[in-house]
Amino acid sequence: MFKKILIANRGEIALRIQRACRELGVKSVVVYSEADRDAKYVKLADEAVCIGPAASSLSYLSMPAIIATAEVTDAEAIHPGYGFLSENADFAERVEQSGFTFIGPTPESIRMMGDKVSAKQAMIRAGVPCVPGSEGALPEDPKEIIKIARTVGYPVIIKAAGGGGGRGMRVVHTEAALVNAVQMTRTEAGAAFGNPEVYMEKFLENPRHVEIQILADTHKSAVWLGERDCSMQRRHQKILEEAPAPGIPRRVIEKIGDRCAAACRKMNYRGAGTFEFLYENGEFYFIEMNTRVQVEHPVTEMVTGIDIVQMQIKVAAGEKLPFTQRNIVMRGHSIECRINAEDPFKFTPSPGRITMWHAPGGPGVRVDSHVYSNYVVPPHYDSMIGKIIVHGDTREQALARMRIALSETVVEGILTNIPLHRELMVDAKFIEGGTNIHYLEGWMSQHKR
Ligand code: ADP
Repeated sequence: MFKKILIANRGEIALRIQRACRELGVKSVVVYSEADRDAKYVKLADEAVCIGPAASSLSYLSMPAIIATAEVTDAEAIHPGYGFLSENADFAERVEQSGFTFIGPTPESIRMMGDKVSAKQAMIRAGVPCVPGSEGALPEDPKEIIKIARTVGYPVIIKAAGGGGGRGMRVVHTEAALVNAVQMTRTEAGAAFGNPEVYMEKFLENPRHVEIQILADTHKSAVWLGERDCSMQRRHQKILEEAPAPGIPRRVIEKIGDRCAAACRKMNYRGAGTFEFLYENGEFYFIEMNTRVQVEHPVTEMVTGIDIVQMQIKVAAGEKLPFTQRNIVMRGHSIECRINAEDPFKFTPSPGRITMWHAPGGPGVRVDSHVYSNYVVPPHYDSMIGKIIVHGDTREQALARMRIALSETVVEGILTNIPLHRELMVDAKFIEGGTNIHYLEGWMSQHKR
């Protein structure tokens, strides 16, 4: 096991990784920007090093600053968290070339999954079902593009190979609009991601977002840890997640889970990862793979009892997974609400001083957050200030516990989306379970204020 790990991230995930290190008896170094000087994990850290000003390009995205800090603090490994440099293959490569362990997959895996065209091709080779669409990137010839769309069938969605964060996508309903839409997506993708390559998929009208968590070691073992339903989204951003996904037959999940684990073995994948799928009419369609820990990982931890972050660290240290698929037992139901510093219904960011912070508690309640009373939420980063996670024997119990947890939570001084979560927890359709990815936006337009 490592003696010391550098945490190359901020916010709740920096604290989450710090806690995992502590439990493993590993010292940790946190890097922070001038705007994060007062964050809880900085105060609690074994060692903390300021690596630059607030702008992430000069701090959390600065590879030289992070690697130099690992050198001067004698860290052996670097945990990238999520966002920032976590899916940057060049960073993973530079970390390893500098003699440190990157806590994540190999640069080759990250690169392959970061390009959605090559990711999809790898999945097809590994027998993972994908959304029907173009074989690889779209050609230049407009006639060819029209031909492909006719085979796929309208509506289609044009997506950038290098896209991410819900950007670089365009839905096309008619042949008349096709060629122009492809051209526009190409231009935008070139400007935004430095890669003009685009591909085509059938546009699924009412899917759910269901993803499979996997863990793989460097000894050819890979397991899947159940699924998460992340259909509650606004502008492709998840706001609450749950495990298991309501109403999907276990045998359907097991089949897709086994495929994902087999694909990891085939690709020599290592570490934690998530296969994201759209689920419609009883079928799973792969859309992308995330090669890092995800915001919503706690719901899986709650139902499996497995600490995913500790597993990432152990696998990176060369240890074998301490269980096989047969040992993994899913128990009960878990829900996570992401708490964002924003107007609950207009979604405008609401940074500033939290004058009062009171976290909920009680049976089956977990809070992952780096904030506290009198903490100032900086305006420079993502608006998420924490996550409330609950576990219950049944979905009903988990819902009840979340309602109580949300009613106990007090955040004053800034606006948060807690009022939105409180309303969703009593929404009849959500309580029924199985709402699709468009549900929240439809709900918002009916509940205008
Ligand atoms: P990103 O990396 O930008 O998040 P994804 O490929 O994961 O891109 O897609 C993000 C979201 O876009 C999905 O969760 C879904 O809401 C929508 N989407 C993507 N592909 C399709 C598709 N073929 N049909 C319908 N919706 C899609």
